[in-house]
Amino acid sequence: MLYQRSSALFKDAQEYIPGGVNSPVRAFKSVGGTPIFIKKAEGAYIYDEDGRAYVDYINSWGPMIIGHTDPRVLNATVEQMKNGFSFGTPTELETEIAKLITSVVPNIDMVRMVNSGTEACMSAIRLARGYTNRDKIVKFEGCYHGHSDSFLIKAGSGAATFGNPNSPGVTQGTAKDTLLAEYNNLEDVKTLFEQNKDEIAAIIVEPIAGNMGCIVPEKGFLEGLRQICDANGALLIFDEVMTGFRQAMGGSQERLNINADIVTFGKVIGGGFPVGAFAARREIMNHLAPLGPVYQAGTLSGNPIAMRAGITTLNIINNDRELFNRIDNATETLDTEISKIFAEKGIPNHINRLGSMMSVFFTEQTEIKNFTDVTKCNHEKFNKFFHHLLTNEVYIAPSGYETWFISDAIKDAEINKTLDAVRSFEG
Ligand code: PLP
Repeated sequence: MLYQRSSALFKDAQEYIPGGVNSPVRAFKSVGGTPIFIKKAEGAYIYDEDGRAYVDYINSWGPMIIGHTDPRVLNATVEQMKNGFSFGTPTELETEIAKLITSVVPNIDMVRMVNSGTEACMSAIRLARGYTNRDKIVKFEGCYHGHSDSFLIKAGSGAATFGNPNSPGVTQGTAKDTLLAEYNNLEDVKTLFEQNKDEIAAIIVEPIAGNMGCIVPEKGFLEGLRQICDANGALLIFDEVMTGFRQAMGGSQERLNINADIVTFGKVIGGGFPVGAFAARREIMNHLAPLGPVYQAGTLSGNPIAMRAGITTLNIINNDRELFNRIDNATETLDTEISKIFAEKGIPNHINRLGSMMSVFFTEQTEIKNFTDVTKCNHEKFNKFFHHLLTNEVYIAPSGYETWFISDAIKDAEINKTLDAVRSFEG
């Protein structure tokens, strides 16, 4: 049996951990079967408890952009650890990472470190509300901004995968302040602003969406959001938790040349450690405690080991300007070659891709540009595809509502192994 030890471990875990996992999508519930339990990871590969090595296209859901267990990050964090694990005081490292981030990301003067993408987005909307003195926010159907209450309204990622995008436990009072629009639909957004004049604090958007599968913003969509915000005194929040330091050093703002007012980060910024951040211009960040009245805090925020991992990872990326080209090219090769194989086999599909994010949708549709389009895809076929790849030691996200994350450790050998697996998929 391929997954003998994983099965036993999963059985045990389910006795003590709800669903056997600490984050729902890991449970393989939508694709069926047993989640693989991972023992170690290195470079392009993760190794399961049964001794199998998989080419990894999840990369811890995005952070491991330079591959797993990079020796430079490993050494730097081990050295840092010798000085202590956590102090709860300011450290030089925090200023170092803040300087680095503000030097490469456009339109920001200051940054506050937190422990996850959820915290970053939750704090960003509190800041936007405090800054504008308005309550409502606009979010897009299928976008995921973490699991804080305001965002679990038609949310993407696991919430979409499991069919509960509106979570019980979120009060009506909270839900009424989250207004919903369709991704890539500016008219929807305009209508919301007309109906809620002077009440909307911010639009929060994944500038390149990855939580309903990879959905690329249509030309004019983000520009339109910028204009609507400017015309209505609202702030534009780019949730760059997935896209930050992945689509470019300056994230989607740089790649797509659009300015946001507040930017949130997670994933790559911590190099695999629990880190998030939010950032904005000085006049906005001045509203944050202890300078201003908008409260936000964290016992482990700016943790020295996590900061060292983040600084080392960001410097590696920043000093290797070919890295983004390499991962983008690897992703393009995967897209082109998988498309060719499916065309030869007559398997209807559509691949969305931007930079090093991509998703394979099984569908006759010729474009996939919002959440409704994704729901209409053949998710049963996706589940078969997922299991076929897994059997052939290629690991993609266990849901048709997620993106692939390509790392710099994925080279020709891994791409060829992936394409061989795709070739033997019968559809
Ligand atoms: N925002 C986006 C775009 C995300 O993809 C995620 C997580 O996948 C989050 C926010 C939440 O981040 P975290 O899981 O670190 O809380």
